[in-house]
Amino acid sequence: MELTHIAKTVMEKRYLRMKEDGTRETPDEMLRRVARVIAAVEEKYGASKKEIRAVEERFYQLMDRQDFMPNSPTFTGAGTALGQLSACFVLPVGDSLPEIYETMKQAALIHQTGGGTGFAFSRLRPAGDVVRSSQGVASGPVSFLRVYNASTEAIKQGGTRRGANMGILRVDHPDILQFIESKADITQITNFNISVAITDAFMEALEKGTEYELINPRNGEVTGKLSAKLVWDKLVENAWKTGEPGIVFIDRINRRNPNNHVEVIEATNPCGEQPLPPYGSCNLGSINLANFVKNPYTDRAEVDWERLGEVARTATRFLDNVIDANKYPLPQIAEKALRDRRIGLGIMGWAEMLVQMGLPYDSEEAVALGNRVMTFIKQKALEESMALAEVRGPYPEWEGSQWHKAGLKVRNATLTTVAPTGTISLFAARPDLPCSGGIEPKFALVFTRNQAGALMLDVDGQFASIARREGWYSDELMQQVADRGTARGVSGVPEKWQRIFATSHDITPEWHVRMQAAFQGGDGLPVDQQPVDAAVSKTINFPHHATVEDVGKSYALAWQLGLKGITVYRDGSRASQVLTTGDKT
Ligand code: ADP
Repeated sequence: MELTHIAKTVMEKRYLRMKEDGTRETPDEMLRRVARVIAAVEEKYGASKKEIRAVEERFYQLMDRQDFMPNSPTFTGAGTALGQLSACFVLPVGDSLPEIYETMKQAALIHQTGGGTGFAFSRLRPAGDVVRSSQGVASGPVSFLRVYNASTEAIKQGGTRRGANMGILRVDHPDILQFIESKADITQITNFNISVAITDAFMEALEKGTEYELINPRNGEVTGKLSAKLVWDKLVENAWKTGEPGIVFIDRINRRNPNNHVEVIEATNPCGEQPLPPYGSCNLGSINLANFVKNPYTDRAEVDWERLGEVARTATRFLDNVIDANKYPLPQIAEKALRDRRIGLGIMGWAEMLVQMGLPYDSEEAVALGNRVMTFIKQKALEESMALAEVRGPYPEWEGSQWHKAGLKVRNATLTTVAPTGTISLFAARPDLPCSGGIEPKFALVFTRNQAGALMLDVDGQFASIARREGWYSDELMQQVADRGTARGVSGVPEKWQRIFATSHDITPEWHVRMQAAFQGGDGLPVDQQPVDAAVSKTINFPHHATVEDVGKSYALAWQLGLKGITVYRDGSRASQVLTTGDKT
């Protein structure tokens, strides 16, 4: 492993464990620990000691070569007393005080183990509705959202990391307008992302320009009607202002869920990439695509399909093993995980693959390649899952699933997901070959960092090494790129590289959405051909001067292109932005 400085720091702070002798494990020892715990599962399926050692070595190599990384909880949890290895959970919220507070307690336990939780508040009766037991009035979903938020605030994970949550409300809930406004004040509900669950009926009303019905979930009564356009406009306007709420197309999610014969999905995990049923969980892992280009930076650059296929298969086996190695935070979650055996194999380093292939992110070729790469990974994951099913059996809920109907006996209800890879992409990055999160483009090429009062230039490793190799590197030029926030239009950078090194601000929202769609795959694909079974985490970036209409267009395009959800961010729209670039903010 060749770690960057920042990766070492993050690992030391949160990931490397204390050993019995009181010293901290090294990064290499961490990988060994994870490989050992995940490979040990093979014993259950009849592997010999020798075979287990061989699998352990393959798992170790996956990570040591920075080809693949499991989600953070697998690093922090493997071989520990808590032993919780998954990043994603969804908990049901029932319409009674005991249920509401029970779920809040469960969420706290999950946060303690490094997992994120999603909830739909859609089953809660609206504010002002009757409460028989106390003869009072109900306070409604938004007030309990605030209570959950306060609970998360109070418990910090591992001393440093706060819990992450997703709160969802159906668009036909009577409190929807209040929900849409609930984060207009950006200092509120900060431990939640919120999204509106958009139904097909709503989209139909929107297209026809009509009203749609609001329904009280307590008794199914229609309480009123709203203009779909009015609600849509409010949604878009709030997203323009603050980035929230996002939207998820809940009926589409359920239609395309391979396991939809036994479950109804109401919510997703915090970053939106994993729609899950109540008590559903999923462990994720991501392949670093930056490592899979042959003859990089030349006219003969090509994807190393053979090695990518091998890694995708080994990674799939790894993730299936995680399900058995896992110690689940609740019995209901354990039971469901062992019944559906969801895994989420994804990718990261897409931006770096594109640069090596010589393709700008905002190009037809890049979009086509994205679809091809993800479809290929899905195919390999499917092959491995079918091979595992031969030996270990199909997942218990398989019968009647879309897989079953397609004649495919699989080990896992879902196989692929594109996660943000916020931390693990740091672990996959090398000083000269960075790894951008998920399918995101590079955020910037040159940052200016204030280090102890001195301004330091922090240059993207790929950009710097090409510039040095070709002899056009200079501090002045890098400063120009930093000031502009992009290489495009900086004359000292060869035109070819100006185009290829597209940053998120160079790329129009439409290209962002199209790339997300390329990885997600559209409606109507057979289950073995949808590249991503779960969903894709992606931020659609807008410049500060973008209009409300621009955001509306992206939302509409998301629906047209078959996305399961969309999250937008307009530069500078939140006061404390973590990363900023040059004069574009
Ligand atoms: P990582 O890179 O750490 O493995 P990702 O950035 O890919 O994680 O996020 C994947 C999922 O992990 C998120 O969608 C969420 O479910 C969970 N997650 C991420 N950050 C947190 C956090 N601070 N607290 C709880 N869960 C989190």
